[in-house]
Amino acid sequence: MILVPQEELTDRLAMGCHCCEIGRTLEGGYCERAGDVEFGGVLLCGRHARQFEVRDRVALLRGIASSLELSLRSIPLRRDTNRASLLRTERAGAARDLNLAYEELRRAVEDIA
Ligand SMILES: [Zn+2]
Repeated sequence: MILVPQEELTDRLAMGCHCCEIGRTLEGGYCERAGDVEFGGVLLCGRHARQFEVRDRVALLRGIASSLELSLRSIPLRRDTNRASLLRTERAGAARDLNLAYEELRRAVEDIA
């Protein structure tokens, strides 16, 4: 999430496009809140920007959890008990972080509704 520099925000406001641009995203929709945070090239309100940020975090954590799961299926790695134990610990941490991110995403979605 990037806060829009004041001069760029002033330019956009001067052009009359000061509302949240959620309609320009793949999610679509309409939002009358002021757009004051740049996220992925569009100006979003704080609530939509937070929702997108949490979705990005969920996607990243899902990728991490999947790669750890794949690594644990490696037969040579499973023979290395210390490394396998370390990966299981990492996988448990990723699963915990992913559950927290899903909970935060649920709250962010409810906050918009
Ligand atoms: Zn919005």
